[in-house]
Amino acid sequence: MNKRPRGFTTTILHSDRQKPIEHGSLHKPIHTSVAFGYGDARDLAAVFQGKQSGFRYGRQGNPTISALEEKITAMEDGVATLCFATGMAAVGALYQGLLRAGDHVVSSAFLFGNTASMWNTVNAQGVTVDFADATDVKHIEAAIKPNTRMVFVETIANPRTQVADLSRIGGLCKARGILFVVDNTMTSPVLFRPKSVGAGLVINALTKAIGGHGNALGGSLTDTGVFDWKTYPIATNYQRGESRQWGMAQLRAKALRDFGGSLAPEAAHHIAVGAETVALRVPRMCANALALARALEADPRVAKVHYPGLASHAQHKISSEHFKAAGWLLAIELRDDVDCFDYLNRLQIAIISSNLGDTRTLVIPVAQTIFYEIGKERRAEMGIAESLIRISVGIEDTDDLIEDFLQALG
Ligand SMILES: *Cc1c(COP(=O)(O)O)cnc(C)c1O
Repeated sequence: MNKRPRGFTTTILHSDRQKPIEHGSLHKPIHTSVAFGYGDARDLAAVFQGKQSGFRYGRQGNPTISALEEKITAMEDGVATLCFATGMAAVGALYQGLLRAGDHVVSSAFLFGNTASMWNTVNAQGVTVDFADATDVKHIEAAIKPNTRMVFVETIANPRTQVADLSRIGGLCKARGILFVVDNTMTSPVLFRPKSVGAGLVINALTKAIGGHGNALGGSLTDTGVFDWKTYPIATNYQRGESRQWGMAQLRAKALRDFGGSLAPEAAHHIAVGAETVALRVPRMCANALALARALEADPRVAKVHYPGLASHAQHKISSEHFKAAGWLLAIELRDDVDCFDYLNRLQIAIISSNLGDTRTLVIPVAQTIFYEIGKERRAEMGIAESLIRISVGIEDTDDLIEDFLQALG
């Protein structure tokens, strides 16, 4: 028997039909029922007690969402996935489900703005969070304390594209027995699997490349099976079955059930359809991003181009060693005499918009919008110039994009 595992896209396309679906339907239906009825009260009790699999109430899970969770688990080569209403709900679940007063977190200093804001909130609530420059493991190591429970990084940081020192941070966490959490949104499992560097939990904002069409919000947390939950203070009632299931059992109850950031089944369906083509879209977005980065870097009116695929990027080597391509996110700084608002207004194809990972190219002035609330000082610490423009490159035809971004320079 040939045991060669199936490829990424084949697996995703045929995942729903691994289990029988009514009428031979090719898609898992959108189950909108809030509750699930049982013919035997003992079965319902067994489901509640975790002795039998089944659904109870839509907030804790639903067949449409389970089908998506299975796809994401396959994409990340993990053991289990929990879906949430948004990417931020998945990030917030770390706090709700796994941290308590007295715990310490080391987070990359280079973060998606709302994640940075969330860690600041957490910092005022009994859990302490220290931010460290994650582009070099030595800064993470210096920030670790005896009560450090987790290290959190993004693969390619949104918006300035700093790349975390992933393998070395993974090695450090393994040696110290610390949970390593990686937000894989800006690479997606198409370019990188955080499990390969020892991440125990992986976050994906499904809103971005996996859904891919900017028509549904969603987030996920995947347990890769790498982390031994026996070494983590999991409550005794979630220590059921194999220890590699304990973390997800506690997250499902303490974060998803108790805080209720559940994914809607309609959104799960949109994301599942988007996921079918993520492995086709992402390489095209990355190829466009590289071509655009090169064209902009060659133009004297552009002061700086931040893209890990360029040899000039500080983490170009780490990026090429870890990722199949350098992503679809680039950030540029214009020369002082080119007004960044005027520049954006002259773009004809790219849309001035705050999303990422869409099929369409989207642009945003960073300091005045998504990083406005955080203030100038913290922006400077995060390497965000006041004139920084973030570009989320889409799947348009390459020449059209290059022409648009160059004509707008005036
Ligand atoms: C967008 C994003 C999130 C949050 O996802 P939402 O679905 O918008 O809540 C988290 N992390 C990263 C890196 C993101 O880009």
